[in-house]
Amino acid sequence: MKTRRIGAVAAGAALALTLAACGSDSGGSSGSGSGGGDSKGLKIGIKFDQPGLGLKKGSDFTGMDVDVAKYVAKKLGTDEANITWVQAPSAQRETLISTGQVNMIVATYSITDSRKEKVSFAGPYFIAGQDLLVRADDTSITGPDSLKGKKLCSVTGSTSAQNVTKEVPGINLQNFGTYSECVAALSSGAIDAVTTDDTILAGYAAQDQYKGKLKVVGKPFSTENYGIGIKKGDTALCNQVTDAIKSMISDGSWQKIVDDNLGPAGYKPGDGNPPTPAACS
Ligand code: GLU
Repeated sequence: MKTRRIGAVAAGAALALTLAACGSDSGGSSGSGSGGGDSKGLKIGIKFDQPGLGLKKGSDFTGMDVDVAKYVAKKLGTDEANITWVQAPSAQRETLISTGQVNMIVATYSITDSRKEKVSFAGPYFIAGQDLLVRADDTSITGPDSLKGKKLCSVTGSTSAQNVTKEVPGINLQNFGTYSECVAALSSGAIDAVTTDDTILAGYAAQDQYKGKLKVVGKPFSTENYGIGIKKGDTALCNQVTDAIKSMISDGSWQKIVDDNLGPAGYKPGDGNPPTPAACS
């Protein structure tokens, strides 16, 4: 009886050690790389050029995704000062995760089946929809069905580029590396419309340099479930991040983060928000 008990305790201790080893493994890839060197440091991929979502200005990082990342990091035991922000353009997100260059990505990153083959997701933490951004005086583009003969811009590796190609077969689509390049081209007249998530488009339309010059059409034609991307199969980390998202929603932080970051652009979250995060698999 006594021996069996000790055996059970030993087995329990061994399990705890294994779990601890797993835990430091997933965190360790952050600390051992070019990050701060702190074992609790996290490298987090965000966008650097999307106002209201992920924006770098000097050494300041702002936006909904930045605040979500800070909240989650804190729950994981990492202070803001120990976060290394890494630029994560749409087409590079899966690679940044699978090569261990980041521990997680919080970058308007839609959960999709094909991405799930390469990375795991916690979430969703927000639901957006794909829309169109046009010049304020353009009355000819009223939705995806009026895009025939128009020059459209989106970003390589985004669901936006994929969706619109399906929605409007034969569309004249140009893909850039970032949405800010598309918006500059729209403003200069080189292209006629930009397509991506309404959250992103609202942020540009409200930016000082474009205020009154650009408008969001306002007819969303997809559902974009934003998730936090992590290394494929890291269920322990996925569960921790999912719990953090749940508490962010239930303790009122989600609402504050959304109001603070999307409110200034006049963006109102659509149906389904706040979402219920899915179970990790
Ligand atoms: N949410 C979409 C995606 O993950 C479009 C926005 C983006 O490219 O970040 O592809």
